[in-house]
Amino acid sequence: MKQLILKPGREKSLLRRHPWIFSGAVARVQGEPGMGDSVAVRAAGGEFLAWAAYSPASQIRARVWSWHEAERIDAALLHARLRQALAARERLLSAEASDAMRLVHGESDGLPGVIADRYGEVVVLQLLSAGAERWRAELTQCLRALTGCACVYERSDADVRELEGLPVKCGVLYGELPAAGVQLREHGLGYGVDVAAGHKTGFYLDQRDNRKRIGMLARGRDVLNCFCYSGGFTLNALAGGAKSVLSVDSSADALAQARDNLVRNALDAARAEWQEADVFKYLRVLRDQGRSYDLIVLDPPKFAPTAAFAEKAARGYKDINLLALKLLRPGGLLASFSCSGGISAELFQKILAGAALDAGVDAAIVGRFAAAADHPVLLSFPEGDYLKGLLVRRA
Ligand code: SAH
Repeated sequence: MKQLILKPGREKSLLRRHPWIFSGAVARVQGEPGMGDSVAVRAAGGEFLAWAAYSPASQIRARVWSWHEAERIDAALLHARLRQALAARERLLSAEASDAMRLVHGESDGLPGVIADRYGEVVVLQLLSAGAERWRAELTQCLRALTGCACVYERSDADVRELEGLPVKCGVLYGELPAAGVQLREHGLGYGVDVAAGHKTGFYLDQRDNRKRIGMLARGRDVLNCFCYSGGFTLNALAGGAKSVLSVDSSADALAQARDNLVRNALDAARAEWQEADVFKYLRVLRDQGRSYDLIVLDPPKFAPTAAFAEKAARGYKDINLLALKLLRPGGLLASFSCSGGISAELFQKILAGAALDAGVDAAIVGRFAAAADHPVLLSFPEGDYLKGLLVRRA
């Protein structure tokens, strides 16, 4: 019997249905489980707690597949979980909002380490844990059967795989990528998506509704969109009637995709300005030039993957938010995001408060942002609540 026996008292988080077992909680490993093998997790007294996937290299030593002793971890269970994940999204997202969707959001869908995003006929799969890796073939097969997609493409190249001791794996798992490329429509705008070389699975689906909201706020405003990637906020601002949009990103490929997306939507290129630059440096350039804006979006990459990086990340967030608040005209709006799991919503608000104080600016929160409905957050797994944003108005 492959099993993990916990130290006395360390079953508490599992009894609250938190799906991670940290290495420090494990007293003994029995039956020599291999990477990704299913193990029974037991309290010090022997009581069954869960079935979990064993990950010998990671601090997260096991991730829970099931809370029921009678369940078997096999292809049928994965199939049922995937079917539930798809069904859970049916009434949450209207077809006119988008033809692209996160189908599977890891732990929050009972599938730890499994991410699947659908872009039309293509499903992009990310396997981020030893357990997810173990079931690659079955997951591919089930996704194919349940979605009827033409292609399953793997993008298992996220940094967290390294913590699990897993190598990078990318490429087609089933079918072929469409020769004409991958596209999606979202809130009436079209985008090209580079599923092979773009960030994450190719597109930031979590910001879908926030992009729309920025579009609704943009009319007649001079907009600065920092960390613009493939132009999501930029396109929404232009479509929403922005007077001008300056978009900044350090990636030439992202900017090329963004420009292409602008053309794709026949939006007015004369109102759009693009800048390839490091935002940390470029905000200082804009300050020194005396530029100012009515609406600024800050959507940086993850600065703190875990709480251990929180302090350094906090300095980064404070720096860009302080500079952005200074560039805002009176009455202007700052939409500031953090997708760092290691920065809580409470800490993020404190960072903005500190930034406003040091910028010598009075500002108030007039809105809050979170990830879209296809990125659920299990109440028992607050770590899933990674994307947070504040809409702040300068007095
Ligand atoms: N807002 C985008 C997603 C942003 S992702 C959307 O809605 O799709 C973060 C982006 O920040 C990436 O495109 C990355 O290239 C860029 N980036 C990372 N570090 C940067 C830096 N220091 N300066 C400028 N851009 C940076």
